[in-house]
Amino acid sequence: MTYALNEDQLAIQDLIRRVARERVAPRADEIDRTAEYPHDMFALLKELGLFALPFPEEFGGANNLLSSCIAVEELGRVCYNTGYLLVVQWTPFGAILAGGTAEQKQRLLPGLATGDLRGALSLTEPQSGSDVSGIKTTARKAPGGYVLNGAKIWATNSDIADFVLVAAKTVDESGNKLGINLFIVDKGTAGFTVGKKEPKMGARGVPSCPLFFDDAFVLETNRLGPEGGQGFKVAMEALNTSRPIVAARAVGIAQGAIDHTVGYIQERVAFGQKISDFQGVRWMIADMTMQTEAARQLVYRTAALVDAGASGRELAAMAAMAKCFASDVAMKVATDAVQLFGAAGISNEYPINRYFRDAKVVQIIEGTNQIQRNIIADSVLGRVPKKI
Ligand SMILES: Cc1cc2nc3c(=O)[nH]c(=O)nc-3n(C[C@H](O)[C@H](O)[C@H](O)COP(=O)(O)OP(=O)(O)OC[C@H]3O[C@@H](n4cnc5c(N)ncnc54)[C@H](O)[C@@H]3O)c2cc1C
Repeated sequence: MTYALNEDQLAIQDLIRRVARERVAPRADEIDRTAEYPHDMFALLKELGLFALPFPEEFGGANNLLSSCIAVEELGRVCYNTGYLLVVQWTPFGAILAGGTAEQKQRLLPGLATGDLRGALSLTEPQSGSDVSGIKTTARKAPGGYVLNGAKIWATNSDIADFVLVAAKTVDESGNKLGINLFIVDKGTAGFTVGKKEPKMGARGVPSCPLFFDDAFVLETNRLGPEGGQGFKVAMEALNTSRPIVAARAVGIAQGAIDHTVGYIQERVAFGQKISDFQGVRWMIADMTMQTEAARQLVYRTAALVDAGASGRELAAMAAMAKCFASDVAMKVATDAVQLFGAAGISNEYPINRYFRDAKVVQIIEGTNQIQRNIIADSVLGRVPKKI
């Protein structure tokens, strides 16, 4: 299959590259340093209409994942946190599009596409992150809906969001287990509180918070998909579709780290010459560029597969490869970039250690890279359908 960028995609790349350089880059260090949610950057993305990119045409979108990846890459190249604003919006979108009722889609997707609504997704609990089946939050059936009890951690964007998609174990009135479901929990729901934001090493501009549910009642119409495991499975498989977007952030980090390094090594002098003239340094920058380009091609190809209709399990291994490879590359490239800056790489006076800290985050979020490797191995070893 081919995935050369078409005219629209090249135009998006050009526009966002320019906006990123002129309006986003000057804010990047401050957002990271203060760890304050960048309302101005959200307004900028909204003004540009970027939230709609992956949405179907009926919601005003371009229905194009490759364009979405390009947008995230170009923003992430100068400011991981601004790129993150798109990603946190698109994660609940994917789950609702795949598993929501027509009414839920009409209620939530137009607002997510314009940026008038903000969402978050909450699976992780103190005792279980990778192993979602270990969650303890329950949704007990009650007349007209469910009563949620439990606690979550690391729900990114939750203190800003108008609603959070919350994973809970559904039980009937007698406490019998029915399976995991996602529930749309609106801001302001009685018994639902968002805790203090987590102090973070990376991804600092978009807060991650604990959530608490103390007899929080949600209407039956706020359950995503059918009761029991099937609805959850559909929504989770939809995350395969959004995984290339996470991978695109990693490509952006790697490219941004290279951009800064190229400038630095051509100015810094040691032993009477620019350090970019040392063969050891030239080969490092060549390797960094090679690895980043390989990651980019894997991400673009995976996004193009999604645009061509691949989804669910069929897509799982490719999406896992893109996320795992690109984020490992981002970590390696950012580490080498810090190395090439020498002590300046450790100093907060220079932007490069921000890339290093943000790269580490991408190896852990949206399924750690070990979990991605498990998915790939399962596919190779024939434990899941291998269609790609
Ligand atoms: C910045 C940030 C933002 C986040 N945002 C969100 C969010 O919005 N919503 C949300 O729900 N969660 C979010 N998370 C949580 C994130 O999804 C989890 O941290 C992640 O899934 C890993 O879970 P854990 O931290 O509990 O690690 P654990 O599952 O305890 O894993 C610990 C280590 O063991 C390894 N491991 C576990 N199981 C296996 C296995 N089967 N094979 C090999 N190795 C294994 C892991 O890879 C990891 O290295 C966020 C985390 C961060 C850091």
